[in-house]
Amino acid sequence: MKVADKLQDIQLRIGEACEIAGRHPEEVTIIAVTKYVSTERAQEALEAGLIHLGENRDDGLLNKWDKLEGEPVWHFIGSLQTRKVKSIIDKVSYIHSLDRLSLAQEINKRAERPIHCFIQVNVSGEESKHGLTPEEVIPFVNQLAEYEKIIVSGLMTMAPFTDDEQVLRGCFKQLKQLQTEVQTMRLSYAPCTELSMGMSNDYQIAIEEGATMVRIGTALVGE
Ligand SMILES: *Cc1c(COP(=O)(O)O)cnc(C)c1O
Repeated sequence: MKVADKLQDIQLRIGEACEIAGRHPEEVTIIAVTKYVSTERAQEALEAGLIHLGENRDDGLLNKWDKLEGEPVWHFIGSLQTRKVKSIIDKVSYIHSLDRLSLAQEINKRAERPIHCFIQVNVSGEESKHGLTPEEVIPFVNQLAEYEKIIVSGLMTMAPFTDDEQVLRGCFKQLKQLQTEVQTMRLSYAPCTELSMGMSNDYQIAIEEGATMVRIGTALVGE
């Protein structure tokens, strides 16, 4: 199926979720996660009008970024090893996986312009998932004050792999609650206006709970 057709279907569903939540579809940015697909398929996504592309590995990003025609906005969405920062930092606009000070330090050292970062939170507490515990988020935000290249644009989470809607909703609600706490701090470097949550299986629920960026791979560009 063509990306453009899948996109149309997803936009309808986003519209439904927004209606339920009393939100505007313009508040929701779709990130097309191209990590499983070819450069050609990523190019097709760009041509369908998707501007935001996401990769979770440095080699995936480096393989695609100079081959695509057009000007995608790149999002790095996977766990990021400190030693890999150097190779991706001038290619990405957003990093969704800030989860430790050593990474903040390296981003700050290597970046030539401010980088929009999301603090990754492990809301569900699953051991296999990266991210700070919810309790660690506020102290971490305070510690980021000294890194002038880091903008805390928002929070990111990956929900547990389940069909249980209540579990998913609970997870997203907790991230939203944390976002409100960060916003209440009124820090110039941490506007925290964005919530990066929702993937192929749960983006509608995430949007109902306040997602402003959904990261969709399989359902959008899957071949
Ligand atoms: C792969 C990935 C996605 C997209 O997953 P799909 O289920 O294919 O939509 C979103 N976020 C992260 C962090 C990922 O690694």
